[in-house]
Amino acid sequence: MAGVLVAGIAVAYLVLQFIGGGDTPETIPLSEALTAIEDGDVAVVSLDDGSRTARLELADGEVVSTTFPVGYGTDLVDAATAAGVEVDATPYQAPSTLTRLFYALLPAMLIVGLLIFVLTRGGGGGMLNVAKLPTGRGDAVNGTSVRFDDIAGNEEALDDLREGVSYLNRDASRFTRVGANVPNGFLLVGPPGTGKTLLAKAVAGEAGVPFFAMSGSDFVETFVGVGARRIRDVFAEARKHPRAIVFIDELDAVGRARTVGPSNGSNEESERTLNALLVELDGFHDSGVIVLGATNRPEILDSALLRPGRFDRRIMVGLPDRAARADILRLHLAKRPVADDVDIDGFARRCVGCSGADLAFLANEAALAAGRENADQITLAHLEVALSTSMLGRVRKSAVRSEPDRRITAFHEAGHALVALVDDDLDDPVAVSILPRGNSGGVTWLDSDDQMYVARTRAEAQLAMLLGGRAGEMILLGGDFTSGASSDLAQAKSLAGRMVNEWGMGESLVQANVKDGDREAAAMVDTALERARHLLFKHRDLFEAIASE
Ligand code: ATP
Repeated sequence: MAGVLVAGIAVAYLVLQFIGGGDTPETIPLSEALTAIEDGDVAVVSLDDGSRTARLELADGEVVSTTFPVGYGTDLVDAATAAGVEVDATPYQAPSTLTRLFYALLPAMLIVGLLIFVLTRGGGGGMLNVAKLPTGRGDAVNGTSVRFDDIAGNEEALDDLREGVSYLNRDASRFTRVGANVPNGFLLVGPPGTGKTLLAKAVAGEAGVPFFAMSGSDFVETFVGVGARRIRDVFAEARKHPRAIVFIDELDAVGRARTVGPSNGSNEESERTLNALLVELDGFHDSGVIVLGATNRPEILDSALLRPGRFDRRIMVGLPDRAARADILRLHLAKRPVADDVDIDGFARRCVGCSGADLAFLANEAALAAGRENADQITLAHLEVALSTSMLGRVRKSAVRSEPDRRITAFHEAGHALVALVDDDLDDPVAVSILPRGNSGGVTWLDSDDQMYVARTRAEAQLAMLLGGRAGEMILLGGDFTSGASSDLAQAKSLAGRMVNEWGMGESLVQANVKDGDREAAAMVDTALERARHLLFKHRDLFEAIASE
């Protein structure tokens, strides 16, 4: 019944999409639309006089829309024709009675469908089995084709997991012969997107055993006993195989530390689920099943989960360093045509803070950028577009900017760039852009050495670099400045706060009170602005050359 309803809703949604014409494009003001038409940034204008909406297909393929007042359609047509832009017009059609009825009933249909779906899913009783678990991955009970070769970086984690594979490959006798208890539980700890799921799949793939994947949040249920029963079902299913991997993502969702003191209903329920997991973990020693858990918050796990014989092997899966980023990029670019002169190592330096998942996304974005241009190969320029897109959002080609605004942005970014260039404590800038993206008017990228510790001199230089934008504006505007430094100031405030309150880089090692700390951090930011202004005056010619470039 629920299946039929959900399918019905899906069909209704598709019909709605069809009637509505697919995805809703971003709406821009009429003035922006007109300027874009005049600037030749628009390929096709489609007018719908009935809804007073114009759909603009931009030269780069992006679609935006704008609305216009009654009677203004003809003016838009005139503007488009004058700029040599192709114009389409959709005659106004009143929606049919059937369409209106459909729209009126749709919310009610959705609510009823959702209710029935939720109720039958939660209270399905003994019907539940592993293959139906909502893992969101669709591979709950299959072998996987992932191998260790599909993973780059993460060398230490791979070494630890090779050991896990050797137990699964019936090598366990080597250890049991000398009286060792073979570990059955590995906890993969690391930030999102660092490849924990991929590693778990690779263990199963290498050992050629079935892979049961689920997420801790699948077990968090409001219905009494459902979470605990799901845990038992999964393990019962895994034990039917001589050897298997059970992977529990988001282990913290089910393994959160139990609370001390009066418990309420929801505490009791999650404790029941956790207890079921603990019982299962104890019950499968020597069973040929290895359990891998993943979390990015090991500190909140219940200590009972980490005891010997349970998740007693901890494997750190950190963000990749520069060399590992290059390896991951190479892996994801290997099956794609990349121009010979692309320096992947050099490019990887700029992807500071990117996880493996970010890099996989980046490689695909670069391929999309190449495809958009109908190019045969991925070039450095495509990778750069992909990096800026993934970090800052796409260039807003439709954003209208006046010449004074462009000048202010240029001097602002040149200010950041100059400080980074001349200050020995900072990495050099690698790219500067004054194209607006997301909320930012421009951006300056610095090279990076992945340093683990921040020296005080370097932190102070970073503050000066952040204030370089404001300093640059002050030179252009003769002491005046704009609102353009807001996000720089927020970053500077946060950095100075950490320097004073966390890293003991202030006048005194620890602060007597919050107010003292705030005052000192504020003074540090003021000093940084003076330092930036001094550098800009000292290297004024270079600064202005960067800005005009
Ligand atoms: P989460 O904590 O969000 O579940 P995760 O750590 O489990 O994330 P995965 O889901 O394994 O991360 O990674 C997502 C994708 O990122 C992978 O399918 C793969 O394409 C890519 N990826 C991540 N790390 C690596 C890596 N070390 N080598 C190659 N690809 C990687």
